This record gives sequence, structure tokens and C-alpha cells, in this order.
Amino acid sequence: MVERVDVAVVGGGIAGLSAAYELVKQGRSVHLLESTGRTGGVILTERFDGWTVDAGPDSLLVQKPAAIGLCRELGLGDRLHPTRTPRTSFVLRGGRLHPLVEGSFLGFPLSATALARSSLFSWPGKIRMGLEPFVPKRTDDTEESIGAFVRRRFGSEAADYLADPLLAGIHAGDVNRLSARALFPRLVAAEAKSGSVLKAFRQLRTAPSGDGAFMSLPGGTGELAEAVAASLPPGTIRLNASIRALRREGDFILETTDGNVLHAGAVILAVPAYVAATLLAGVAPEVSSLCGEVRYASTATVALGYTRDQVRHPLNGTGFVVPKIEGSPLLAGTWVSAKWPHRAPDGHVLMRAFFGGGRDPRRLEQSDAELTSLAHTEMAALTGITGDPIFSRLYRWTNRSPQFDVGHLARVEAIERALARVPGLLLAGSGFRAIGIPDCIADGRAMGARAAA
Ligand SMILES: Cc1cc2nc3c(=O)[nH]c(=O)nc-3n(C[C@H](O)[C@H](O)[C@H](O)COP(=O)(O)OP(=O)(O)OC[C@H]3O[C@@H](n4cnc5c(N)ncnc54)[C@H](O)[C@@H]3O)c2cc1C
Repeated sequence: MVERVDVAVVGGGIAGLSAAYELVKQGRSVHLLESTGRTGGVILTERFDGWTVDAGPDSLLVQKPAAIGLCRELGLGDRLHPTRTPRTSFVLRGGRLHPLVEGSFLGFPLSATALARSSLFSWPGKIRMGLEPFVPKRTDDTEESIGAFVRRRFGSEAADYLADPLLAGIHAGDVNRLSARALFPRLVAAEAKSGSVLKAFRQLRTAPSGDGAFMSLPGGTGELAEAVAASLPPGTIRLNASIRALRREGDFILETTDGNVLHAGAVILAVPAYVAATLLAGVAPEVSSLCGEVRYASTATVALGYTRDQVRHPLNGTGFVVPKIEGSPLLAGTWVSAKWPHRAPDGHVLMRAFFGGGRDPRRLEQSDAELTSLAHTEMAALTGITGDPIFSRLYRWTNRSPQFDVGHLARVEAIERALARVPGLLLAGSGFRAIGIPDCIADGRAMGARAAA
């Protein structure tokens, strides 16, 4: 079958969905081609027997307004809710969970008193962190890894116990490879502007929002992806439509693996960068080879359900992160039902454990049964669980976490320059400019608007 549309969007994750949403809003004909049997990409929420389990992302960052804004546009504004209190996150050190200092920025304590009281750091570590305002400003403008930046400004304890588990951890990455400027531009800008991160953030300090930094929906983040998909006109989304070839003969011509052909005036690729690399080999070889350089990491999420009386720990926070130096197989754990309302039946507890990432890729060679059992054993040791979980689910996210390594920003700039020579071809989503759901939505919509224009 041969069809023609104004714009073909390839990839039905949140970036592709947002691009299609914007194109429809602007009155364009669009097909969204998704290789699997569902849209959402790494956004996947399962709901069963009173449990609501986010298999991938669970939080929408409020500071970047695109996700909250889209929820409101879709009529989900009244369903948005903040995290439960207390919102404390913990860090594993010496087999114990230590709270992150209240009122910290990205984990860095802004108040000397709060730092002095912290049980997470040793006294030499605290003194070194407190001396950050006296560390001379870097004059060299080359890109640094998150690890190098934090070690230089705050010392090695902050690099080991904050930068590694927290800053690199949320990107499932290796702290010594991920780019500080690509992932935490505010940190780098703070040093450049004020000569000190602590000084800059102390000056900036605004009253913390009563609602905290994150929001979600009662049906999990899946509710947002499902609502975007449901808002598109019937026939827009083509599931099980894996694109195997892309060429250009005036129009772009896309062929699916089942032999369908689609002609489109413009194409937005909202797929992982390595998929874009394959699809663009003929149409845009330079873009293709740059896309092929973007590294990806894999993770696994294990969800575990218990009755409340099986768990001794007060679960007085949102969960914990695990520094590599601690030698635990876990990357992090979330106390989901303490973090969010509506996730577990009354009197029950939902937890998630994370494995793998850029720092422990070989962990994922273990079988599903081994990882599930390991998740339970580790959570049991840290939170005093007796008995077996009521249910467990394991989700593997193989090559789904792009790694914005040192050099990524220059690569994306080179991609933009090369793309400018192929009018009508656009890239969107997490492999390129976007970090997390709000950025993917903003990027998808911006590319949708550009393609419409
Ligand atoms: C475990 C985990 C936890 C996370 N937690 C958070 C969080 O709490 N908050 C947050 O903001 N972000 C979080 N993120 C990041 C965020 O989820 C992603 O940045 C975002 O969802 C990526 O969306 P995307 O559309 O760019 O890519 P994807 O979701 O990867 O979508 C790409 C789509 O392309 C499809 N595709 C691939 N090849 C083809 C082909 N040849 N033809 C057609 N379709 C194809 C895929 O099937 C997929 O549906 C998390 C990520 C992971 C993995």
C-alpha cells in the first residue's frame, strides 16, 4: 500500500507522540510509525490488582514546564499530584542509609550547619566541600566529566557519594564519562558566573515549593503518553510499523518491514540515535555516522510488592541511591508507595530496584530470576523485609539510556549543521538534545512545529 502524508514521524515514544500532537494541532496530515505494538517507548505503566507500576520513568520535573503544560492541555491538570512527604532521599554508605541534607541543591548542602550535621560525609569530606567557594574558578573552557567537575570543586568524597550515585545515577551513566556541561549546565554556568557553585546557589535560593520538584499522575507517567496517543485523530498511529529503509525522491519514501510504503514531505526521526544511524545511511551519511557515535546504556527495573507489615523500615522518604564505591549490586531503590499516592493497595508497599547502567553493564547478564531474587534480597537487607514479595515484575531496558558523554554537545552541533543540508529531515528525542520527559516533549513539539512550517 502506498500513502502520502505531510509529515511522517518515526518512533512512538513521548518525543514522537509530542511531535505528532503538534503537527495535528497545526493542521498537518501525519503518520506516527512505531515498530512495537504500543506507543510510549520507555514510558510504560502496568496496572493490576490495585497496583500501579511504572516500569520506566515515574517523575515529571516541574522546573521544566513542558510535561506539566502538556498534561494541562490534555485535561489532566487536575490529576497531577506532587510526591508525598517526607521527600528525603537517602544514600547508602557503610551498609546504612543516610539522608541527603535538607535544603540541598542537587545534593550539595547549601547551609554550613546542615552540612556539619550530615551523617553521610566524614569530617575531612565536609571540610573539603565547605571550602568550595575558595576553589579558584577554572579558566580552561574544555568540557569536563561530571566526576572531574565535582571532584575539582567539592573533593573526592562529594564525587563518590553525590556525583556518582545521584548526578550520574539518574542518567544510568558513568560519572567519569558523562558531560557536566551537557547534563548539568547550571552547575557549570554557576562556576563561570560566580566563581563558586555554592555561592551562586546560595544567592539564587528561593523558598522551596511546598509541592517539591516532581509531579506525577494517579495512573503513572503512562497516563500522559496514553492521553497524547488518544488525542491524535484515528488512523494517525501505525503500530507494528518498523521502518527498515528511508530514501528521498523529491518526497521522503519510508518502507516498513511488512512492505508498506509511505511518502512524506518531511520526516521526524524520534528513535534512538543508533536506529537513526541505520535509517540515514543512504539519505544523510554524515548525520548517520555522527548518530552512530552516541553511546547507550542498559538498565533493568525490578518492581516488588509487599504487605506493609512485612517491611520494618519506616520508609520515611522516596528511596535511596547507591554509590559505586559501596560495591552493592544495586544502582538505586525507590519506595514507590511512600513517594507517590495511588500506587499500591491500602496496607501494601511497592518498591523498585534498579540494576546495570553505564557503571555495571555486566550485571544484566544475570537471568530475570536471578535479578528479581537479588532485588528482593538487597531490599530486604536494607529495609528489614520478612517473607517473599506478593508479586515481582522485571523490565529490561536494553540500550535505552543515551549517554551524553563529554563531546556529546559538539556532536549534536555537528549533526545540526549536517541536517541543515537535508531540508525536511529532523531528529527529535532523548538521543540528541533532550534529557528526560519534559525535554523530549519540548523537543518533539519544536520539531513538529518546524516540520509543519
Ligand atoms: C528506567 C528509566 C527511568 C527514567 N526515569 C525518568 C523520570 O523519572 N523522569 C524523566 O523525565 N525521564 C526519565 N527517564 C528518561 C525518559 O523516560 C526518556 O528520556 C524519554 O521517555 C525518551 O523518550 P523518546 O521518545 O526520546 O525515546 P523512546 O521512549 O526510546 O522511544 C523511541 C521509540 O522509537 C521506536 N522505534 C525504534 N526503532 C524504530 C523503527 N525502526 N521504526 C519505528 N519505531 C522505532 C521504539 O520502539 C520506541 O517506542 C527514564 C528513562 C529510563 C530508561
